[in-house]
Amino acid sequence: MIEANAVSRSPSTRARAPDAVIRNTEPATGAPLPEIEVMPAQEVRGVVARAREAQKGWAALGFGERRRRLSAFKNLLMDRADEVGAVVHRENGKPLFEAITHDVVPVAMLTSYYARKAKSILRDRRIAAPLFPHKRSYVRYEPRGVIGVIAPWNFPFSLPVGEVVTALAAGNAVVVKPSEFTPLVMLEGKKLLVEAGIPEDLVGVVPGFGPTGAALIESGVDMVVFIGSGATGRKIAAACGERLIPCVLELGGKDPAIVCADADLEKAARTVVFGAFANSGQVCASVERVYVDRRIAEPFTARVVELAKGLRQGDGDVDVGAMTTPAQLGIVRRQVDEAVAQGAKVLTGGHAVEGKGRFFEPTVLTDVNAGMAVMREETFGPVLPIVAYDSEDDAVRLANDTTYGLNAYVFSKDRGRAERLANRIEAGTVMVNDVLYTHGVPEWPWGGVKSSGIGRTHGAEALREMCRMRHVNVERVAVTPPWLYPYRDSVRRSLVKAVRTVMRLLD
Ligand code: NAD
Repeated sequence: MIEANAVSRSPSTRARAPDAVIRNTEPATGAPLPEIEVMPAQEVRGVVARAREAQKGWAALGFGERRRRLSAFKNLLMDRADEVGAVVHRENGKPLFEAITHDVVPVAMLTSYYARKAKSILRDRRIAAPLFPHKRSYVRYEPRGVIGVIAPWNFPFSLPVGEVVTALAAGNAVVVKPSEFTPLVMLEGKKLLVEAGIPEDLVGVVPGFGPTGAALIESGVDMVVFIGSGATGRKIAAACGERLIPCVLELGGKDPAIVCADADLEKAARTVVFGAFANSGQVCASVERVYVDRRIAEPFTARVVELAKGLRQGDGDVDVGAMTTPAQLGIVRRQVDEAVAQGAKVLTGGHAVEGKGRFFEPTVLTDVNAGMAVMREETFGPVLPIVAYDSEDDAVRLANDTTYGLNAYVFSKDRGRAERLANRIEAGTVMVNDVLYTHGVPEWPWGGVKSSGIGRTHGAEALREMCRMRHVNVERVAVTPPWLYPYRDSVRRSLVKAVRTVMRLLD
């Protein structure tokens, strides 16, 4: 299945320039993956033009027929979840369990949600304006046209295909630049979409490196959804600014978990371990810092270490998979080595695993401080630093001591208290007594504050974001406005008086 795609290269053309071809190895085994031809920048414009043409027919189908085709895709996806998951596992290195339950199934759920709800979410919305009762006003949501999606490698199915489904449900066409580390998964997704009855040209895929992504923005798309690092996100925002098109930016995180003294210690430890090591820590919402009440710091840390030591790592039926890219493995190694050199204590793990695959041991650190890279920069690896706090105010201050604001987590049996704490943390999503999985629930909006991003994916918000909003204003009763020319002082005075009176009545 993984070899059978239209743009994988035949061995006879192997002499091309290195940047004309994507060559990767399986993260978990080191075995070579099929090579994929890079889409030259000048060809991207043609893909966008064909998508624009296809969008007209797609929009004309209406919600009913679009719902039918999206549901067909959802059914196909659930039928083929194991096969698609196998491609995700092979190309990204995450365990098959995660590939299926974290990457593939959430897209089926998202597709089902938008197929059922797009019509009601995007229906005309009436707006009352009490000072202007003679007017009937509503906003209308229309497809933007062609949405460009630029994706990372850590959720190679759910991130691009989830955005594709959102764009389609809103009546748009979409062109995806998958990560250069995981193009095969998106090509697999495109095949399924076409098999389910989505027109071939409606979903373009342009494999390549950064320049292909830059070319996509230049090629006439009407909006960009970018998911990736903050450094690239800033370039995307600038490029979209030049073209004056909107962009949604889903960027990195340095997500904190606060564990209160009254937390269910066993549940908190197990949940935090999952939050830190799922996908080998390569989740934008991974637990990257733990602040635990000093009164329970010792038993909590001991249990976390015990659980981390018990994790099975490798290829196949395991808990923790591989690091997807060599560069990411390098970042994790550097941050841990630097932290240790500056006095951090490694309670378990701490090293890359020797062998053909790319693995970093599940690592728990203490004696860390806020100046260390491992506490300030996104680690995006299986590393869990633990810090003890003395007061809740301290915990909140430490949690907010970051430029990021994607997710945060609070653990306490007192849900009211936990919620009060949650509302003091600057993050796009805060979960109480749980981690990570709001991204997998289609109804819940996803996105960051501070330098974790702009805009939202998922939920009603994302669907509306992928639409052009227009306002239509119609007279209900014929009234000639008193402010037409010529201006008169007496009219001005009466106007101001009337507005003041009505506003007082509204107070
Ligand atoms: P990255 O920024 O290196 O690359 C992301 C994408 O941008 C890739 O497809 C890449 O080819 C493309 N790109 C690079 N330069 C470009 C340019 N100049 N113009 C256009 N496109 C360009 O990120 P990555 O390493 O692939 O992904 C990891 C990052 O993604 C982490 O920071 C992680 O936190 C973040 N992420 C965020 C979310 C979220 O929802 N907030 C989800 C997943 C990942």
